[in-house]
Amino acid sequence: MRYLILSDVHGNLEALHAVLAHANDAGWDHLLVLGDLIGYGADPNAVVVTIRDIAPRAIVRGNHDKVGAGLEPAAGFNPSARAAITWTRHSLTPEVMDWLSALPMGPLTVDDVCVICHGAPFDEDEYLEDNRDFRRASTHVTAPVCFFGHTHVPVAWQGANGQTRLLWPSREAEAQVVDVRTGGWLINPGAVGQPRDGDARASYAIFDAARGEVTLARVPYDVQTAQEKIRRAGLPERLALRLALGQ
Ligand code: ZN
Repeated sequence: MRYLILSDVHGNLEALHAVLAHANDAGWDHLLVLGDLIGYGADPNAVVVTIRDIAPRAIVRGNHDKVGAGLEPAAGFNPSARAAITWTRHSLTPEVMDWLSALPMGPLTVDDVCVICHGAPFDEDEYLEDNRDFRRASTHVTAPVCFFGHTHVPVAWQGANGQTRLLWPSREAEAQVVDVRTGGWLINPGAVGQPRDGDARASYAIFDAARGEVTLARVPYDVQTAQEKIRRAGLPERLALRLALGQ
């Protein structure tokens, strides 16, 4: 069983198409989505419909999905995120809005090997950024692998037998393979639609459950078209610029 794992697509259709084409070449059986399909990017409806039509095996909502669907106010969003989610909310079709409103809160158990969540397994809106956060989060997970998103930074952390390991994928690599057979793993596949680790390429993961291997992959995509759509929609310029920087 091979799971394709996507997080933080954020209305970026160009990045989503590039990732799907790349992942289709590698092969996968089921899709897992870690939330934040919308917000920031100019194609929220098309992104949601594309993901919905693939029929994910499991999906959880993100903070932007909640605000975009009108379930929560944009409290805590910075000015450009707030401008984008306000634009997004007004752009969503009623059908997409209904679908987003019904997304479940994480964590969600996919099978006896993995769990998914948006932010942290103990709180969907929390950020897991360093060793301390990972250690705390690991006490809330019993499955061998927990996939999370929200920070837009790909990382693999392991806490097992009193030891911890932290792997940041190398910038140059197209893919990094992590052996997860020993368990105790927390893995962020990075963001499809708005990477923030200084690498502009779209980020995603494939989990091969039979082999016990997670591949963290990067794919170049048509950043310029995504930027032009953001500008044409009248969204903040900062949201277009950051895509080229991967920040
Ligand atoms: Zn996000």
